Amino acid sequence: MHKSGSGSTLGPDGLDLTQAFFKPISNAAPPSPTKRHNKISVIGAGNVGMAIAQTILTQDLTDELVIVDNKPDKLRGEMLDLQHAAAFLPRVKINSSVEYSVTAGSDLCIVTAGARQIGGESRLNLLQRNLSLFKAIIPPLARYSPETVLIIVSNPVDVLTYIAWKLSGFPSNRVIGSGTNLDSSRFCFLIADHLQVNAQDVQACIVGEHGDSSVALWSSISIGGIPVLSFLEKQQIAYEKETLENIHKTVINSAYEVISLKGYTSWAIGYSVASLARSIIRDQRKIHPVSVLAKGFYGIGDVEVFLSLPAQLGRGGVLGVTNVHMNKEEEQRLRDSAKTILEVQTQLGI
Ligand code: NAD
Repeated sequence: MHKSGSGSTLGPDGLDLTQAFFKPISNAAPPSPTKRHNKISVIGAGNVGMAIAQTILTQDLTDELVIVDNKPDKLRGEMLDLQHAAAFLPRVKINSSVEYSVTAGSDLCIVTAGARQIGGESRLNLLQRNLSLFKAIIPPLARYSPETVLIIVSNPVDVLTYIAWKLSGFPSNRVIGSGTNLDSSRFCFLIADHLQVNAQDVQACIVGEHGDSSVALWSSISIGGIPVLSFLEKQQIAYEKETLENIHKTVINSAYEVISLKGYTSWAIGYSVASLARSIIRDQRKIHPVSVLAKGFYGIGDVEVFLSLPAQLGRGGVLGVTNVHMNKEEEQRLRDSAKTILEVQTQLGI
């Protein structure tokens, strides 16, 4: 059995099996031009890229999934492994190539390619290794999909999102870093675990750098709609600031801990990025803490720096930044976080 040039399937005697199985309906109406076809490309078929790809597939977020990597054998192996799950998944066209032309016309491009963080290595140390790599990845992506939304996952994610913005020439609303979406999920998990509640009932946000200078917004945390700190104060329930600081420290150390134990992180970032893909592709207008151009927000000033702020995501990418309440200390920490990222960015000279 082989494919004919027209895509129909021919049996050994030249019989067109597609025609034999399916008698075409005469006068069939063509597919509606208003029916949207979605295409998502994932760049990098490593642990993170494949966790994202498989979460996108299981959550039925796209009609077409493309994977790009510069290691052809590994790439083909990963593609086949996913294709072999076809009987258990909604119908999706899965394709892969080392060539960027395969990504043409993508609605969303997710970049995970990069040097991996080695145990104990800070995210900022990864930067030089990933900068030249982005110079080879972003321009062809932008050329083949000029209308796409870019999500950057590779670390250090905030600076690389800035670099991707510069290299793509896209408007800033179409360049997003996965940022602290994952840190915030870790934060919700730890608070939920501490208070024995469901993590989905915890509204808690980490902003700033995806890394050591991130800022936990304790003053706006609520559980089931009840603001936590003001509730504890009104009930005169004593809480230790140190306990709160320790939860935040655990969030910061989470990635280092997982990497030292299993060598890399994958499942949580897979779910985290799939949640961003859903908000964008399905125009959910949901608010996520993600890395966006922070110029002019929260007193950050007239500087071109990407860091995480609570942003509303929809089909066009970033629709707006939420004006969340921050106390003076939180605002100061956010500005310090911006300074940390900006210092590294300035050293790059781009
Ligand atoms: P990995 O080493 O398993 O995968 C990286 C992949 O990129 C490899 O398959 C490699 O072949 C590919 N690659 C390298 N150069 C390429 C190029 N020029 N073109 C195409 N593909 C190329 O690493 P990983 O564990 O998947 O992590 C990937 C990145 O994601 C790292 O930078 C890591 O720090 C980052 N990460 C970010 C977050 C976050 O929250 N933002 C979380 C986890 C990991």
